[in-house]
Amino acid sequence: MSGEPKQISCAEFQSHLSELIGSGADVSAHPHLQNCALCQALLADLQTIADAARQLFTNVEPPDDLWKQIESAIEKEENEEDKDTH
Ligand SMILES: [Zn+2]
Repeated sequence: MSGEPKQISCAEFQSHLSELIGSGADVSAHPHLQNCALCQALLADLQTIADAARQLFTNVEPPDDLWKQIESAIEKEENEEDKDTH
Protein backbone atom coordinates (compact mmCIF):
# COMPACT_ATOMS: atom_id res chain seq x y z
CA MET A 1 0.00 0.00 0.00
CA SER A 2 2.85 2.42 0.77
CA GLY A 3 4.48 4.43 -1.99
CA GLU A 4 1.54 4.17 -4.32
CA PRO A 5 0.03 7.40 -5.58
CA LYS A 6 -3.24 8.12 -3.83
CA GLN A 7 -6.11 6.84 -5.94
CA ILE A 8 -9.51 8.32 -5.43
CA SER A 9 -12.61 6.26 -5.93
CA CYS A 10 -15.13 6.86 -8.71
CA ALA A 11 -17.65 8.15 -6.18
CA GLU A 12 -15.07 10.55 -4.84
CA PHE A 13 -14.14 11.74 -8.31
CA GLN A 14 -17.75 12.13 -9.38
CA SER A 15 -18.60 14.13 -6.29
CA HIS A 16 -15.95 16.64 -7.37
CA LEU A 17 -16.82 16.49 -11.05
CA SER A 18 -19.40 19.28 -11.23
CA GLU A 19 -17.09 21.42 -9.09
CA LEU A 20 -14.20 20.78 -11.48
CA ILE A 21 -16.31 21.55 -14.54
CA GLY A 22 -17.69 24.66 -12.87
CA SER A 23 -14.22 25.92 -12.03
CA GLY A 24 -13.29 25.78 -15.71
CA ALA A 25 -10.47 23.33 -15.05
CA ASP A 26 -9.38 20.86 -17.70
CA VAL A 27 -11.28 17.93 -16.25
CA SER A 28 -10.04 15.51 -18.92
CA ALA A 29 -6.51 15.95 -17.54
CA HIS A 30 -7.55 14.73 -14.10
CA PRO A 31 -5.37 11.79 -12.94
CA HIS A 32 -8.40 9.68 -12.09
CA LEU A 33 -9.49 9.76 -15.74
CA GLN A 34 -6.14 8.43 -16.92
CA ASN A 35 -7.00 4.98 -15.61
CA CYS A 36 -10.77 4.93 -15.30
CA ALA A 37 -12.77 4.23 -18.45
CA LEU A 38 -16.00 4.47 -16.49
CA CYS A 39 -15.48 8.08 -15.52
CA GLN A 40 -14.11 8.90 -18.98
CA ALA A 41 -17.43 7.74 -20.42
CA LEU A 42 -19.33 9.68 -17.77
CA LEU A 43 -17.42 12.85 -18.57
CA ALA A 44 -18.05 12.37 -22.29
CA ASP A 45 -21.76 12.04 -21.58
CA LEU A 46 -21.75 15.16 -19.43
CA GLN A 47 -19.93 17.12 -22.09
CA THR A 48 -22.44 16.01 -24.73
CA ILE A 49 -25.27 17.17 -22.50
CA ALA A 50 -23.51 20.43 -21.67
CA ASP A 51 -22.88 21.13 -25.35
CA ALA A 52 -26.51 20.41 -26.21
CA ALA A 53 -27.71 22.67 -23.41
CA ARG A 54 -25.38 25.45 -24.51
CA GLN A 55 -26.78 25.22 -28.05
CA LEU A 56 -30.31 25.32 -26.74
CA PHE A 57 -29.62 28.47 -24.75
CA THR A 58 -27.80 30.28 -27.55
CA ASN A 59 -30.31 29.40 -30.26
CA VAL A 60 -33.55 29.86 -28.38
CA GLU A 61 -33.92 33.27 -26.81
CA PRO A 62 -36.92 33.83 -24.60
CA PRO A 63 -39.33 36.43 -26.00
CA ASP A 64 -38.94 39.92 -24.56
CA ASP A 65 -42.42 39.89 -23.13
CA LEU A 66 -42.04 36.50 -21.45
CA TRP A 67 -41.68 38.03 -17.99
CA LYS A 68 -44.67 40.31 -18.62
CA GLN A 69 -46.70 37.27 -19.60
CA ILE A 70 -45.68 35.52 -16.40
CA GLU A 71 -46.48 38.62 -14.34
CA SER A 72 -49.92 39.09 -15.87
CA ALA A 73 -50.64 35.39 -15.42
CA ILE A 74 -49.77 35.71 -11.73
CA GLU A 75 -51.88 38.87 -11.37
CA LYS A 76 -54.81 37.19 -13.05
CA GLU A 77 -54.53 34.28 -10.66
CA GLU A 78 -54.37 36.61 -7.65
CA ASN A 79 -57.46 38.51 -8.83
CA GLU A 80 -59.36 35.29 -9.19
CA GLU A 81 -58.36 34.29 -5.69
CA ASP A 82 -59.62 37.65 -4.43
CA LYS A 83 -62.97 37.04 -6.04
CA ASP A 84 -63.27 33.71 -4.29
CA THR A 85 -62.48 35.07 -0.83
CA HIS A 86 -64.65 38.21 -1.04
ZN1 LIG B 1 -13.75 6.46 -11.97
